[in-house]
Amino acid sequence: MELRRDPVSLRWVIQADASASLARTPCPLCPGQEHLTPQTLYERRSGSGQWLLRVTPHPRPRYRIEGLPERRGEGLYDKMRNLGAHEIVTESPEHDRSLGQLGEEQVAEVVRAIVIRMADLKKDPRFRYVSVFRAHGSGVELEHPHSQITALPFVPRPLVEELRSAQRHFERKERCLFCDMIQQEMEQRVRTVDWNEAFVAFCPFASRAPYETWIFPVKHHCCFEEDLTDWNGQRRLARMLKSLMARIEKIAPSYRMVLHTAPNTQAKFEKPGHWTSLEHDFHWHLEILPEALPRPASILPEVYYNSVPPEAAALRLRELAVSEEDEAPPRSGSSA
Ligand SMILES: [Zn+2]
Ligand SMILES: [Zn+2]
Ligand SMILES: [Zn+2]
Repeated sequence: MELRRDPVSLRWVIQADASASLARTPCPLCPGQEHLTPQTLYERRSGSGQWLLRVTPHPRPRYRIEGLPERRGEGLYDKMRNLGAHEIVTESPEHDRSLGQLGEEQVAEVVRAIVIRMADLKKDPRFRYVSVFRAHGSGVELEHPHSQITALPFVPRPLVEELRSAQRHFERKERCLFCDMIQQEMEQRVRTVDWNEAFVAFCPFASRAPYETWIFPVKHHCCFEEDLTDWNGQRRLARMLKSLMARIEKIAPSYRMVLHTAPNTQAKFEKPGHWTSLEHDFHWHLEILPEALPRPASILPEVYYNSVPPEAAALRLRELAVSEEDEAPPRSGSSA
């Protein structure tokens, strides 16, 4: 595998060698299959010794942790090795229990695991960006509920665009773009879905898809793992996540969630002074993009078309507040 950069969009793309796919049975993330992911990077165990959550290298990593990026040109084009870390957070031993169905405490354990792993990966100056990605529903590579942590030798293009846009707003107004947005959404309360003392969730003004939802910490902070070092903060985010996921899982067959946070300021950049104003102008957040099925596969999203306006989506999501029956009782023997 290698990383190639498109000279037009400046986007890095991973090119796979061959199309091998992970065996579906047995699930490599279920209890009893630990030999398929032998290296434990972080785990939580119950009193009886059963693991409750594990972080391991991905059983089929897209990135390799050894060596240097070896950036090189090929005529007009740029490429580099697929250097990076690709870790998987198995969120519970239960194969068919989604994030929205997990207890709040367990979701907070997931948040804590991510915080700890991200902080550790950012110590490596080769990695310019560390982030989290979560896929749920159709088309996922591994069905077992999990999140993926990736550490990359570059800052992904969509994030670069966001960082620049936030920087421009700050230069003009001397205020954080996201703080301004949060304030307006909290005042208008037409696109807000849920909020507590620490977090707010709303459907963005120009939503790309029905029920797209963003989660922000109310208090300004640019960096996810530095903001959420204590259990209280992790609990508050867990409460918000669980409440939102339970709603979104009811109306969308699948969704993708991505964390947008500050690049690794300890990393080596060719040009020094790259992201010096981050602390003031960037504000970490989670973006959840539900996917409706069937999706018209032929359409490239050059311009997104959203069939449900965010004001209507937020109203529907507010009405779908979590009720007691969503808390399914714990099950055992959960391999599918
Ligand atoms: Zn499983
Ligand atoms: Zn802010
Ligand atoms: Zn974002």
